[in-house]
Amino acid sequence: MTLTLTDVTLTYPDGDTRLTALDHVTLDVAPGEFAAVVGPSGSGKSTLLAVAATLLTPDSGTVAIAGRDTSGLSRGERAHLRRDRVGIVFQQANLIPALTAAEQLEAVGHLRGDRPRAGRERARALLDAVGLDAAKQRRRPHQLSGGERQRVNIARALFAEPAVLLVDEPTSALDHDRGARVVALLAEVTARHGTATVMVTHDTALLGRADRVLTMADGRLTAA
Ligand code: ADP
Repeated sequence: MTLTLTDVTLTYPDGDTRLTALDHVTLDVAPGEFAAVVGPSGSGKSTLLAVAATLLTPDSGTVAIAGRDTSGLSRGERAHLRRDRVGIVFQQANLIPALTAAEQLEAVGHLRGDRPRAGRERARALLDAVGLDAAKQRRRPHQLSGGERQRVNIARALFAEPAVLLVDEPTSALDHDRGARVVALLAEVTARHGTATVMVTHDTALLGRADRVLTMADGRLTAA
């Protein structure tokens, strides 16, 4: 399994007590598997992604990424693991305004110390794969539609060939057709790249693409 959460509990301070956001959550996502998580607002979905991304540390239980238990890792080691193994797609694309679509990806390669030419070729191939043509690859974020920006976001998350892809409400800024295309793209890249993908959504119309649908309610995760 590429992403494994075992008996994870996470609480937040809440006045004099603690609020249980994740309550003994266990989840295994295999390479090439596309899992969707649905559930009402406040049920713990974003917290689940943050824990899977090692951005939050659980009170108890373990998170393993690509076979590596993250419990004993330092902050720096976790940051490295995230950079090398985890792709994160947030609701808003968070692209850098001054960079073209291609440069958004090349910047990741630069941070990793890749050779510039290899980074450029890889950026082009990934942007081609998400359906952004050569002219659009040279545009800056404000010159792209919301759906196109989300495609750049996904391509950027895939740049490091992550073992795990974590996606939070990827369609919230998009109309239904564009949202459906983005989810189809996620399903396709999950299968093609063999990532373990977890997508949080409240949009039940998009779940047909998922291999597995899980429901979050009051911090508990169950098969839908
Ligand atoms: P969802 O993504 O399903 O809307 P969240 O994971 O954001 O749910 O939140 C789960 C619960 O934890 C909610 O009750 C929320 O109010 C609470 N919560 C989320 N983040 C914090 C925080 N930083 N501090 C305190 N409580 C939080």
